[in-house]
Amino acid sequence: MYTTTMARYSSVAAASFLFSALFSNLAYAQGTDYELQEIKPGVYVVSAGGSNSMFLVTQEGVVVVDAPQAIADKIFAAVSEVTDRPITHLIYSHAHKDHIGAANLFENVTIIAHNETARILNERNDPDRPVPDMNFTREMNLQLGDQVLQLLYPGPYHQQGNTFVYLPEHRVLMAVDHVAPGGVPWKHLSVTPDVPAFIESIDQALALDFDVFVAGHGQTGTKQDILVQQEYVADLRENAMAALNEVNFTEATQGVNGSSAMTEAYFNALTKSCADKIDAKWQGILEGIGVWTDEHCERMLISVRVD
Ligand SMILES: [Zn+2]
Repeated sequence: MYTTTMARYSSVAAASFLFSALFSNLAYAQGTDYELQEIKPGVYVVSAGGSNSMFLVTQEGVVVVDAPQAIADKIFAAVSEVTDRPITHLIYSHAHKDHIGAANLFENVTIIAHNETARILNERNDPDRPVPDMNFTREMNLQLGDQVLQLLYPGPYHQQGNTFVYLPEHRVLMAVDHVAPGGVPWKHLSVTPDVPAFIESIDQALALDFDVFVAGHGQTGTKQDILVQQEYVADLRENAMAALNEVNFTEATQGVNGSSAMTEAYFNALTKSCADKIDAKWQGILEGIGVWTDEHCERMLISVRVD
């Protein structure tokens, strides 16, 4: 509704500025095939095909975070809607193709990513995803004009090298393929390779001072949304541990033969015990409850047993 209402103002910068001033939190402009929101002065989120990219306009040029395939060259149209300054830097949130597969379209930019992302991209040898020009291990401060971007490595919540992009002065945090404001995390807990790192990364996000959270897909959120995510994940862990105490192996595997089938029957019973409690508590609160609860519980159960 917001976007439709605003469409007629999209070419009138003054009206957009007024709108931004009136509604501190959002919003602005509508192209025909992408959505552009000014989330803070000079900080924009471009969305198309369910994916997000973010860019920051500085006195020295434009810094873009991610080049999703679904946005591709629309990013250039979006940037030129708001500034004539050149794009000077491209930051990779992580190495996955759906987020940086259009990076080859950028010319004369400095690409920055975590050194694990650089290592992965060296191995992939994919011309669509050029290897970064600069990389870092723990954190990197990028000062451009009077703007600062912090790149922070929170550990492998989704993929080795996945990076938080933090704008301290704007109080904006972008974390891609992490948690989803308003919904549950993606399948198998954002397909995390490391559940403890995933849990820890939510705490690390919350330790930062921000009021706008930008995800790689879907809507932006607030710090409150991330507190809800923390509670959801804590509930998963608590109910996974409870299931391991409550479900009886002998009962769960009665009449089942073969070790794989018995393991599966036991895990199915554990998962059901956890998922039933999660669904009962969270139904109607987060989008996706009841769809991926079983996957989240199972991923957490495996972690609780071995991590
Ligand atoms: Zn990813």
